[in-house]
Amino acid sequence: MLRIAIQAKGRLNEDTMSLLNDAGIEVAPAKRKLVAKASGFPIEVLYLRDDDIPQAVHIGVADAGIVGLNEVAEREMKLHEVMRLGFGHCRISLAVPKAVDYTGLEWFRGKCVATSYPNILSRFFYEQGIDADIYEIAGSVEIAPAVGLADAIFDIVSSGGTLIQNGLKEVEQVFHSEAVLVATPGLSSSKLEEVEKLKFRFTSITSSRGYKYVLMNLPRQQVDAAVKLIPGMRSPTILPLADPDWCSLHTVLGEDVLWEKIEQLKALGAEGILVLNLENMIV
Ligand code: ATP
Ligand code: MG
Repeated sequence: MLRIAIQAKGRLNEDTMSLLNDAGIEVAPAKRKLVAKASGFPIEVLYLRDDDIPQAVHIGVADAGIVGLNEVAEREMKLHEVMRLGFGHCRISLAVPKAVDYTGLEWFRGKCVATSYPNILSRFFYEQGIDADIYEIAGSVEIAPAVGLADAIFDIVSSGGTLIQNGLKEVEQVFHSEAVLVATPGLSSSKLEEVEKLKFRFTSITSSRGYKYVLMNLPRQQVDAAVKLIPGMRSPTILPLADPDWCSLHTVLGEDVLWEKIEQLKALGAEGILVLNLENMIV
């Protein structure tokens, strides 16, 4: 049985739970229990703080884990990255007080930067040839410059609102992160096989995101024109209707082009257009 570590509560928990659920794996939510058995897949879920997941997977307390790339990079643990999961997107950036006339990375020379990600930052400064002091703090990094603890900060940014509230501005985006499925390096072949099955299920879910299943009735004489309009995965499915002058067209469309294509198909005479959510796409 595979044991997978996930965040007990926090920003990654909800998306992780729904990914498992969509993959047909039902788990009891973390209450006071650290470990929960799942149904629908031979798996056990270990609920941890996200900081502890890379190490748990590294030493094999869990065979796999779902965690932000930022945590993996910060802990500097060698893990097998199985796949990126397409949620939990964020970036870690350098930010300086608003009033600073920032001209480039050189500004950081000899400055003190507060962060909860000292390893990622020191690697970055090292690569860039910048000699700066790194001051590690666990939380509320964004208030450090205002209280005189540091000249600048290196912290997670999503919208940038917190920076503005604290009189800071983002000047360098250093690290881009999202949730990843990681596994212990050197897993046994039977466990690796389970991880691959999990990856297969997750891939079918993440690849269906951003797509819709579209079906419509179309005058038969317009089929060629409609097929040219729709890139489709291969080509659209055309099914006969009781009325020989009409057919039914089924296809998958990306949400980015959905409305544009629907308007074009309507112009060709398409009727009864249905747009359905796709749960899985096995590619
Ligand atoms: P824990 O109690 O598990 O240690 P935490 O407080 O360290 O939780 P959260 O704030 O729940 O962490 O964030 C978990 C992860 O979510 C981050 O490490 C990051 O990968 C991702 N994330 C995505 N967007 C953001 C954001 N705006 N702020 C912070 N983390 C984000
Ligand atoms: Mg944490």
